[in-house]
Amino acid sequence: MIKFPIYLDYHSTTPVDPKVVEAMLPYFTEKFGNASSKSHIFGWNAEAAVENARKQVARVINAEYRDVIFTSGATESVNLAIKGIAEAYLPKGNHIITSAIEHEAVLDTCKSLERKGYEITYLKVNEYGLVDVNELKNSIKDNTILVSVMYVNNEIGTIQPINEIAAVCKSKGVLFHTDATQAVGKIEVDVVKSGIDLLSFSSHKIYGPKGVGAFYIKSRFPKIRLTPRIDGGAQERGLRAGTLNVPGIAGFGKACEIAKAQMEEEMTRLTLLRDRLYNGIISGLDGVKLNGHPSKRIGNNLNLTLKNVDSDALLIAIKEIALSTGSACSSESVETSHVLKAINSDNGHKHSAIRFGLGRYTTEEEIEYTISKVVEKAQFLRKTSPLSSHSEEGEYAKK
Ligand SMILES: *Cc1c(COP(=O)(O)O)cnc(C)c1O
Repeated sequence: MIKFPIYLDYHSTTPVDPKVVEAMLPYFTEKFGNASSKSHIFGWNAEAAVENARKQVARVINAEYRDVIFTSGATESVNLAIKGIAEAYLPKGNHIITSAIEHEAVLDTCKSLERKGYEITYLKVNEYGLVDVNELKNSIKDNTILVSVMYVNNEIGTIQPINEIAAVCKSKGVLFHTDATQAVGKIEVDVVKSGIDLLSFSSHKIYGPKGVGAFYIKSRFPKIRLTPRIDGGAQERGLRAGTLNVPGIAGFGKACEIAKAQMEEEMTRLTLLRDRLYNGIISGLDGVKLNGHPSKRIGNNLNLTLKNVDSDALLIAIKEIALSTGSACSSESVETSHVLKAINSDNGHKHSAIRFGLGRYTTEEEIEYTISKVVEKAQFLRKTSPLSSHSEEGEYAKK
């Protein structure tokens, strides 16, 4: 029995795992203390919960627990990383390198710095969404202070060569930050093995509560200086002032523990389901283009362009399945996704792609249902929508 609606938008957010909810509950009521209260048991209990969660969160990226600080989410962590480094290292230089396909958290932060006089290089990506490590190497200059490249893309799922990127940065003496929001808890992320200096991720993408995130900052070799974004207290080593969100942090810790324990098995399961989804759609429909890298992609992502099908119309036709035509943020505006533009896959037609994001509660039955509905409705739209009268490739491309 399928429970409707079907959720296939796990890159946007995830439901909170019931075990995570359970781990959070005591910290709303009987253990409600402020983790900064050092003089009584209420504070001590809260502090113990936070420090336990810090260890759970650190373990999922193989970090020292002291090197993890809690924020309100990946967006805040990214702002702290990029603006914090930009300010602290201004005496050394004002050049930052990132990629053209980053999440808005990174791109808008870089644009804001550009307006303040910083110089930003946006690395191009190839047709699969991969950055060129040689191009990165050649872009590093004497005034380069930071490289920020995402681990896994949230629209097309492409996994960047993070170890090679980190190695180039290290050899040039430039700090490396990665937005690992779509990678942590899904594939192995190891800040030590990869040589990552700074890393951002979020709780609500891995079955934890919304409004909590983590920021990893390596404590030694090199010793990194950073200016805080929020002033007001000594919490989180002075890098992030404000009373800690104890229930959220406890939940985030539990979510990391569960994700780490299930990661391999779960990713194998999701990859099989995702491949079944892809094969089912291409065996029922022609004119399907895969966006992103065929193999260097996260196992729970599928991003497709269906030729001559308006993806907005398709999503309306299959309202019982929650899907996305781009990233959650860009679907609110009518702009073509900057990621699809960067891989030359927008065909000049806005919202031409559909993103399927699979997750912990996705079932085989849901995937079979999705295959049959996507095939049926796409065929129907091709017959009836205005796009079908321009069925030649060239006409479509101009649309
Ligand atoms: C969701 C997401 C973010 C933003 O995370 P928040 O915790 O919602 O601020 C940043 N980067 C990527 C790649 C994401 O998928």
